[in-house]
Amino acid sequence: MKFLCEACKAELVCESEEEINAETALPHRWYKRCIDERDYILCDVCGNIRHFKGGVSAYLTDCLNLPDTARADVAEEVAASSRSRNRKRPRRNWKFG
Ligand SMILES: [Zn+2]
Repeated sequence: MKFLCEACKAELVCESEEEINAETALPHRWYKRCIDERDYILCDVCGNIRHFKGGVSAYLTDCLNLPDTARADVAEEVAASSRSRNRKRPRRNWKFG
């Protein structure tokens, strides 16, 4: 499967299902961001939450031809990322005993 970042036009080819996140149907660390009620496929760099803090970044506004008033539906994630500075590691199933 081939994926295209709508902002930087980077292409990523995934050859196995392991490279794709079952939840999002996108490559790991890629994002689907809802901006102005339209979904954009963004790579790990362009979809990073830092582009959405305090509004959609100038970079994304430019790359995606968005109006200056564009709003992304990421309020919860912005709040979560500023609450915890350290990214939590993926949960593992530790076995005790
Ligand atoms: Zn990108």
